[in-house]
Amino acid sequence: MVNEGLIFDIKRFAIHDGPGIRTTVFLKGCPLRCWWCHNPEGIYPASELMFFEYKCIGCRTCAGVCPAGAIAFENIEHHLDRKKCTGCGVCSEACPTGALKLAGKVITVEGLMQELEKDVLLYDNSGGGVTFSGGEPLLQHRFLMDALRECKKIDLSTALDTSGYASGDVFAAVLDYVDVFLFDLKLAGDREHRKYTGVSNVPIRNNLRMLADTGRGGDVILRLPVVPGITDTEQNIAGLLDFVASLKGIRRIDLLPFHDVYEKYCRLGREYKMPACGVPAPERLKDIKESFERAGFIVKI
Ligand code: SF4
Ligand code: SF4
Repeated sequence: MVNEGLIFDIKRFAIHDGPGIRTTVFLKGCPLRCWWCHNPEGIYPASELMFFEYKCIGCRTCAGVCPAGAIAFENIEHHLDRKKCTGCGVCSEACPTGALKLAGKVITVEGLMQELEKDVLLYDNSGGGVTFSGGEPLLQHRFLMDALRECKKIDLSTALDTSGYASGDVFAAVLDYVDVFLFDLKLAGDREHRKYTGVSNVPIRNNLRMLADTGRGGDVILRLPVVPGITDTEQNIAGLLDFVASLKGIRRIDLLPFHDVYEKYCRLGREYKMPACGVPAPERLKDIKESFERAGFIVKI
């Protein structure tokens, strides 16, 4: 058993991550680099610091305790040298205001199960359970498998929120342990997919087809991030419709309207590639919804 994984959050009482009331576990690390990613703290597969500038009172406690000498001050300006930072978290524990927060915490399967079991009554009463999200949870597939097996031992309902980007073997291995798949669908064209996510969509399409071919299409909720000028184009929607119409049994899709998360990228000292595009127009969302409905889908926004 691979006993340890790296997570960056556990969210209780989640109502948008699958059926009922759920606890969502966010695993750190993702092979994709979607321009619009709204969980950038989940991308790198290692602990990293988030700096909330507005909370910093300039007390310099962090600089005093950092064993790597990664924090310095220029007058009152706080500077974090991310090349020196090892992600040890000493500064975030010492910071009196919460201006520094470590994204990434090692947890054992046993420790995780203790957390999940706290809400068993809630899951039972609401038809909910546990959702594994990220990042891309399949990146830590050994830890994920161990956690899924433990969930099944105590009859917990499981959902997997995934980009679908994994080898066929890894994807096939989890199938029997996942009750509901929240499966992202982004760009139909491989060239566009590579441009905006950094990877090919071929493994994703293959895994989704494999899932549909097992007769589990009814357990899949597709999730389409509606990003103005990128995923919401006529051409892309037509391409996605072509593809999903060829998959057996998949009939549900959630549209996830883009929202700007520039601030999150600043906290991580990371480049935000998204051009200013605003949120999707309500009329465009309605058009996309109706396109999928005409093809027989049940669509939620
Ligand atoms: S310890 Fe926290 S509040 Fe104090 S200087 Fe460092 S980041 Fe700012
Ligand atoms: S996480 Fe550790 S290494 Fe990085 S700045 Fe804080 S104390 Fe220094």
